[in-house]
Amino acid sequence: MTVEAELVSDTTAWPGEDARLHALYATGILDTAPESSFDALTRLAAEYFQADTVLLCFGDASRIWVKSHWGEPVRELPRQGSIFNLVLAENRSVVVSDIAQHAYFHGRHLPLRRLNPASFASAPVRCPHGDVLGVLTVFSCQTRRPMAVDELRMLESLAEIAANQLELRRLQRRMCGEALPPATAEQHETSLWPSMLDMRRALEERQFVLYYQPEVELATRRIVGLEALIRWVHPQRGLIPPMHFIPAAEESGMILPIGDWGLAEACRQIQAWESHSSGSAAPRVCVNLSAHQFAREGLADHVEALLRRAHIPSRQLGLEMTESSLISDTGLTMEVLGSLRRLGVSLLMDDFGTGYSSLHNLHSFPFDVLKIDRSFVNRMTQGDQPLQIVRTIVDLARALGMDVVAEGIETRQQYDLLRQMGCRYGQGFLFARPLPAEQITHMLSLPGQTLPDPA
Ligand code: C2E
Ligand code: MG
Ligand code: MG
Repeated sequence: MTVEAELVSDTTAWPGEDARLHALYATGILDTAPESSFDALTRLAAEYFQADTVLLCFGDASRIWVKSHWGEPVRELPRQGSIFNLVLAENRSVVVSDIAQHAYFHGRHLPLRRLNPASFASAPVRCPHGDVLGVLTVFSCQTRRPMAVDELRMLESLAEIAANQLELRRLQRRMCGEALPPATAEQHETSLWPSMLDMRRALEERQFVLYYQPEVELATRRIVGLEALIRWVHPQRGLIPPMHFIPAAEESGMILPIGDWGLAEACRQIQAWESHSSGSAAPRVCVNLSAHQFAREGLADHVEALLRRAHIPSRQLGLEMTESSLISDTGLTMEVLGSLRRLGVSLLMDDFGTGYSSLHNLHSFPFDVLKIDRSFVNRMTQGDQPLQIVRTIVDLARALGMDVVAEGIETRQQYDLLRQMGCRYGQGFLFARPLPAEQITHMLSLPGQTLPDPA
């Protein structure tokens, strides 16, 4: 007797997805680096099946996280069109003898870095309630005969061992009181630490919106850029600012789908402003990137695909990163920033002066713009020393050939001082607060896209 997968269509409305994510979340396996504790399993599977590559993966709402590989080193894959979705839909193991001939893949290749597998067999890794949390998959570069039942049992047994390890881990976490996402006492007190499921639902129900805050040329107050700032329009709690949910989104891995949405939405809005702008070009829109987004493989490809889809030139998009969101591996950071830079998008170093602000990083990484953190701007009228600090940062940026944006300008005095010291650009409540897109559309129709002189 042999087993072969039937045709299944990929669908995004997964029944029982909430329960699945809950169970997955409780194990704490999401969004962590590959774990060597699973390596014995993938190696065993590779030897038994004479496989070219074996992957043990777990799937969250949008990504597949590879926890152990034998063969091709893969870290992360999109969930759409994945083997994980196929197993989830079938709710059992699947064997595909010839990927090229299988209707689910529509003649698509399944490239895993250098490997182009021709066949695979994949078994679900389940929680005790039966929800599929992940898959153990053996790949071969040859098409294969359908798998004998006892062979498939072997693969399922190995997947079961992975499931047992995971369950042990869940129990350990519960005993150590770690089942909840780590939150500060303050966050618990105000119950502002939203769950992964809350955020996933918010995404599905389109409760996130982008507000935009103008960045102006200080000499003219002409709008030169717009910073996209996310808000959660909560049905009960009203408008929730990003600092009340972005840390939880980072912690749970939800920042990736939320960040994807933000980037796509900003591109869509740029396209809308471009098509409405008569004469003067729409200003560049800058999107904040979190550490997880930055660390994710294929970031530049993803950004390029979004730009293409929205038919917008890359100079219309900027990406803001804080120093702490860059990866500690300098070589890799250089590679990612370089590939983004080659695309033609602007790179802005956000909140400069907070964190450890290494001069070496500033000098060696290809940032175009330095944004002075608003805490410095806030203090600059409080004495000579804080003023000198801002002056030094402005001079430093100039020496490095970077543009400078002062954040958080609230008073006329700050505005005048910044202009006098040669800071070219700024943003702050003095000019405009972050506003919904429709109000920005109105501002962009002002003569010369110039904001009125603040009193
Ligand atoms: P940020 O990127 O440094 O954004 C600037 C923050 O300063 C915004 O807060 C903005 O409303 C606020 N701000 C601007 N001018 C003034 C001013 O004159 N006075 C004062 N007091 N504040 C001013 P917001 O919108 O609450 O965002 C906070 C942070 O959340 C952002 O800091 C950014 O780090 C993060 N964030 C916002 N949107 C996103 C997003 O889509 N993705 C990610 N990963 N992070 C985001
Ligand atoms: Mg920013
Ligand atoms: Mg900032």
